[in-house]
Amino acid sequence: MSLGPKPRLGYTASRIDRAAVQRSDAAALTALEQRADARAFAIGGEMVVLRKTAAGLDPLFSPAAARELGGYAADIAFLGLYDGAARFAVPFDGSAIEPLKTDDRFTIIDLRSIAARGLVEAEHLGPLAEGKALLNWHARHRFCANCGAATQFVEAGWRRDCNNCKAAHFPRTDPVAIMLAIAGDRCLLGRSHRFQPGMWSCLAGFIEPGEAIEDAVRREIHEEAGIACGRVAYFASQPWPFPASLMIGCHAEALSHDVTIDRSELDDARWFARDEVASMLGRNHPNGFSAPHPVAIAYHIIRAWVEDGIEFR
Ligand SMILES: [Zn+2]
Repeated sequence: MSLGPKPRLGYTASRIDRAAVQRSDAAALTALEQRADARAFAIGGEMVVLRKTAAGLDPLFSPAAARELGGYAADIAFLGLYDGAARFAVPFDGSAIEPLKTDDRFTIIDLRSIAARGLVEAEHLGPLAEGKALLNWHARHRFCANCGAATQFVEAGWRRDCNNCKAAHFPRTDPVAIMLAIAGDRCLLGRSHRFQPGMWSCLAGFIEPGEAIEDAVRREIHEEAGIACGRVAYFASQPWPFPASLMIGCHAEALSHDVTIDRSELDDARWFARDEVASMLGRNHPNGFSAPHPVAIAYHIIRAWVEDGIEFR
């Protein structure tokens, strides 16, 4: 079964060379920032500042312009090199973002909407995800988890140091298993309480300390829907900077049939036939049911099964 051209998975295929060796070289970073080809993203919490231009919305500023608009934040993060030109992320706090909301030169909007509505060139989504997740980590890790003292922004944003107990803290990414349980020609989809009406998707949950991806996949499906699973096949992964997740997409072989829903986690869950799921992906389901937006990995996990089937080894 073919559903036509495959849309691009959001926030992936970043062309940024992270150039980690530059992070500890303050002189080189200053020189890169002062070059005419340097650019910066302006990010405040969930919000991104976009410039209105004749050609559309542009997320790139000169570093000097971003610093000025953002209130001259001291700590700007180096994301890496894009075709040799430096890319930075400049943090905007609420007091810097608020006045821009009524400034005709800018659009202030969240990154989910930017991706889902295709408001900027796709090449910017990976670096925006990198910047947003990194700046979010800084905003939440101002104090040492070991001794409670204030920590310092170092390594161009890729570490925070505690000068009191000498602990070094590194940016975190939280792994999430997101999976489709399959039984022959049917798959298991669920509805979270926060989903819009009619939308069904994969089940998902955080991978816990000491847990393998495969075990997390089996545990989450069993906890949320009461289905036992056997073999698990890795599909693909996606950075998901809301605030700092890495979605790890899998297919799982269901070994049982009866669904028992954990109502604290899910609004509903049930089996769907392949043809019905194809119509949900194509947005032509007779009852208006839909699958997630193609920007999200759930769409691609579901579509891979519908189009190609999954072989467990
Ligand atoms: Zn400390």
